[in-house]
Amino acid sequence: MNEAQIDELARRLENGERRALARAITLAESSRPDHRAETRALLHRLGPDQGKAVRIGLSGTPGVGKSTFIEAFGCMLVEQGLKVAVLAVDPSSARSGGSILGDKTRMERLSRLPQAFIRPSPSRSELGGVARRTREAILLVEAAGFDVVLVETVGVGQSEIMVAEMTDVFLLLLGPAGGDELQGVKRGIMEIADLVVVNKADGDLKPVAEITRADYASALRLVRKRRRDPEGFPTAMTASALEEKGMAEIWDKIRALNDWRHESVWFTRRRAEQAVGWMHTAVKRGIVERFHADPAVAARLPALEAEVANGTVPPEDAADQLMALFEGK
Ligand code: GDP
Repeated sequence: MNEAQIDELARRLENGERRALARAITLAESSRPDHRAETRALLHRLGPDQGKAVRIGLSGTPGVGKSTFIEAFGCMLVEQGLKVAVLAVDPSSARSGGSILGDKTRMERLSRLPQAFIRPSPSRSELGGVARRTREAILLVEAAGFDVVLVETVGVGQSEIMVAEMTDVFLLLLGPAGGDELQGVKRGIMEIADLVVVNKADGDLKPVAEITRADYASALRLVRKRRRDPEGFPTAMTASALEEKGMAEIWDKIRALNDWRHESVWFTRRRAEQAVGWMHTAVKRGIVERFHADPAVAARLPALEAEVANGTVPPEDAADQLMALFEGK
């Protein structure tokens, strides 16, 4: 694409044209150097991170009801006159080559609404690539005028941290299973959650869900002491995605937290930290790419790997040798 074409794409995207948005995200997903340059030019053209949308990270183990929840929650937001984008982050697709999350058939009603935009996880991409693509996709959907961006991921630790680092509010969806499950939830994830929502609080499961909610509420009280949050956060709630219950209450909580954070220094500080964090990530990535592209390193690397593998060279010594070659010493 030349400059005029990038301008045109930016214009159509800012106009809210879905095809332009889809095309821009596809461009951002590509790792081809020319596509990278075009994405960068497009993002420049769209201007600085304006932070207008509420960025919500959403996680939960498979079967907990994520897609049912996003469907119910997303439709409720659209009814309130908001535009909703759903982006999926599926680190497992790096291995399986498939995309489980964000599949439109999982959110059929929402995907048909013109005010909603659903983007599945791209396949065959390592976590670092997924992170960059997701971050850029967030900027693109915001430029296209979306009010709420839901970034969905599956409960496997690393990807949650990554999603939390690029969103404002983190929602952890859990099943109503009670005590045992509480222990199964990784500590780190409890610490990044702003809202813990016990789903499937309906029918016979309702009483269990309420007990589970109370368990999480006390677990969150321990987390609370270490964070600077307004009264009542992080919070534990119940919901039924299937019966579409609790959706408005969850949105009220998210808004209350977000408003509070905007009024305090929290929001600006966090966005600033995220921006600096991304700079460091990009630097590390760039160094690693250049390291591997270095002819002296590439020539020596296979032999050194073998020597480290068979124990003739200690790993740290091998790393020193490679770094010296890379630095041209
Ligand atoms: P995901 O894998 O996390 O996306 O979970 P799904 O949304 O596909 O839901 C998994 C199963 O749980 C499906 O059979 C849903 O119908 C069911 N489910 C989802 N939400 C609820 C709920 O609120 N109540 C009940 N009873 N079932 C639910």
